[in-house]
Amino acid sequence: MKNHDPASKIQDLLQFGEFGDVNPSITDSATYTFMEAKTMLDTFKGEHEGCFLYSRHWNPSNKYLADALAAMEGTGGAWATASGMAAITTTILQLCNSGDHIVSSITTYGGTFAFLANYLKKFNIEVSFVDITRTSEVEKAIRPETKLIYTESLTNPLLQVSDLPALSEIAGKHNVKLVVDNTFTPMIIAPAKLGADIVVYSLTKFINGKNDCVAGAICAEKEFIDALADVNTGSAMLLGPILEPLRSSGIQKNLHTLHIRMQQHSRNAMYLAEKFSETGLRTIYPGLPGHPQHELMKKLMHPDFGFGGMIAIDLGTSEKAATLMENMQKEGVGYLAVSLGYFKTLFSNSGKSTSSEVPEDVQKKMGLSEGLIRFSVGLDHDIERSWEKISYCIEKTGVI
Ligand code: PLP
Repeated sequence: MKNHDPASKIQDLLQFGEFGDVNPSITDSATYTFMEAKTMLDTFKGEHEGCFLYSRHWNPSNKYLADALAAMEGTGGAWATASGMAAITTTILQLCNSGDHIVSSITTYGGTFAFLANYLKKFNIEVSFVDITRTSEVEKAIRPETKLIYTESLTNPLLQVSDLPALSEIAGKHNVKLVVDNTFTPMIIAPAKLGADIVVYSLTKFINGKNDCVAGAICAEKEFIDALADVNTGSAMLLGPILEPLRSSGIQKNLHTLHIRMQQHSRNAMYLAEKFSETGLRTIYPGLPGHPQHELMKKLMHPDFGFGGMIAIDLGTSEKAATLMENMQKEGVGYLAVSLGYFKTLFSNSGKSTSSEVPEDVQKKMGLSEGLIRFSVGLDHDIERSWEKISYCIEKTGVI
């Protein structure tokens, strides 16, 4: 994917404020004035690009962030949401009507799984869950009423790599949309360039990278983004999951260091994954040659940004996982906390935290062991020192 250079696309943007301020000014208004009443009416109809009506519809700060995200993804547009879940739910509710059907990876973030498995029942929308690495299963699950295929580029928490070009071919053949959550792999994977119709993000994670807010985004062609903001039928406009402008301006600035951060997250994660693997622990990392989709990952990824900052290790039981995590926190390896993409290392036992919405029998079916610890590897300057601490904790707790 070297021909798409997301970091340079962001760097090329000239986004400055009305006084030449190098960081775009932050919008502090819920509503906007019009010199002529007709312009207001036209703006309601979706005409008059560049005019702002009301902050829930569009606002300048969110537009700056959305334009930068669209440049990164190579899509015609984007829309900033109040959380990653808002991006996912707004997209799905825009695409589906009552009676429709979705084919989804069985392995997704727990909140997404719960929305698909439980919440959509209210709208009589059925979901078939499949092993996303078996593309023939995906195609077999498609029905006449299927509206979309849903997956994560790198699935949470099992770190399976979705074969986006193959899924896109299936989606195209059956005239359904391919929706991809790229939260784990910004810059590394460019889903829209690989055939995704809509890319969703939790900006809370790597893109913002500071763990100081929740936020999300939807990146797609302009027609879809405009449809989301339609005053009569747009799920973004009507459900109102808008990101607060102060936050979008902070995220817009953080986006400019994302390429360097992703490189360091990936470098550190590769080092730790190799070390974990040498101990004999079951280690899942797409950069390891033993990962079942390692070759596919190499084909899909932009080589400048590595294999990402996420690792999973399997200690067999949740008790062992808890002991190791508590000790790692005491030794200063990082925090026992959910979420990811932070400058410090975060770790959690997925089955008992971010995938706890997934019933235990489904966890087993998808291959999620109760002892799985998911690591979001931080930006540690001296990762060898961090490994020494982890290794000490492994020995001390006798978990292997
Ligand atoms: N997508 C993925 C892959 C996630 O891991 C998460 C949260 O952990 C979300 C979406 C939801 O994002 P948010 O917490 O910003 O709503």
